[in-house]
Amino acid sequence: MSKAKETVLEIDLRALTHNFNYLKSKLKPKTKFLAVVKAFAYGSDSVAVAKHLENLEADYFAVAYANEGVVLRDAGITKPILVLHPLPTSFKTIIDRCLEPSLYNTKVLNEFIEIAETQSQKNYPVHIKFNTGLNRLGFQENDVDAIVSKLKATSAIKAKSIFSHLAASEDKNEVNFTENQINSFKTIASNFENKIGYKPWLHICNTSGVLNYLEAHFDMVRCGIGLYGFGNSATENSNLQPIASLKSVISQIHNIKEKESVGYNRAYIAKDLEKTATIPIGHADGIGRIYGKGKGYVIINGKKAPIIGNVCMDMIMVNITRIDCKEGDEVIIFDSTYNASGLAQSANTISYEILTAISQRVPRKFLR
Ligand SMILES: *Cc1c(COP(=O)(O)O)cnc(C)c1O
Repeated sequence: MSKAKETVLEIDLRALTHNFNYLKSKLKPKTKFLAVVKAFAYGSDSVAVAKHLENLEADYFAVAYANEGVVLRDAGITKPILVLHPLPTSFKTIIDRCLEPSLYNTKVLNEFIEIAETQSQKNYPVHIKFNTGLNRLGFQENDVDAIVSKLKATSAIKAKSIFSHLAASEDKNEVNFTENQINSFKTIASNFENKIGYKPWLHICNTSGVLNYLEAHFDMVRCGIGLYGFGNSATENSNLQPIASLKSVISQIHNIKEKESVGYNRAYIAKDLEKTATIPIGHADGIGRIYGKGKGYVIINGKKAPIIGNVCMDMIMVNITRIDCKEGDEVIIFDSTYNASGLAQSANTISYEILTAISQRVPRKFLR
């Protein structure tokens, strides 16, 4: 791999293949695989990732909002796309672009039926979402009768699946809670099937659910973070490979005297003769101010260089007093060795947040 000469997010599609195959190996052959590619495929590139996974025969895709699905359709993705959190303003677009909505309350169910009927749809595929404890989106268990009677009264839509979402599938201390979620999902599903008279697909597991609750894979699983290389334990992390590496370069080195300050608000004061490097990546690129003032770090020639002072919009300054380096040298923000999860922990957050924050200003480069 050639060294970075500018800020770049490298996306290793071979690692994506590895992660997909690893997650698939946890499933029964008949269990379908839905790849969650919302938020630019967790900050990478939703089109490149979805195309790659379509070739690997992922069965389904999911995005959060309809416009994310439109981008995939424009790029030629033909597999079904579930929109996890559609709002009524996007219902026409959803039907126009063959996207499949999650319907999570009476208002969106009624409004979607109305639009599907106006457009003379027949059996338009929809996914009914139930709340089993996350208390975020979804119908309640006792809504089943009302949903079924609405579905029976129209031929415009058909429930292709019913699903729910786990609140703490990664947390071994919450096994009881998660098992209760799975059990109430089973109760809802059998009640629903009995009343509607056919069997929609069932799905509840995200990545950690796939790894921790083999008995709850049902007809399909929905994997996001695992595809991008992060599991829910040190062991699982070692079975997966982070697909994204964020790299940059040293633009300038400064020698700073004792008591001189560095950056805005003079937030860092040198304690001695010190050396700093300025790196062309800032909060506009996704390195939030939370990483400033010594919390976050970058890697230069294999050594950790803490971010000093405040993170600027387009730059950070790091302490390289004890690092042998020069202007033009490569800087690793995170890669498969110094992974995003570790950097996220330095600011008390999680890999999901740092990955999805990488802004569209950062060029993407693909390794195939
Ligand atoms: C984001 C999301 C997922 C993917 O979760 P991971 O933990 O990244 O695997 C699955 N289902 C729903 C409803 C989601 O919102």
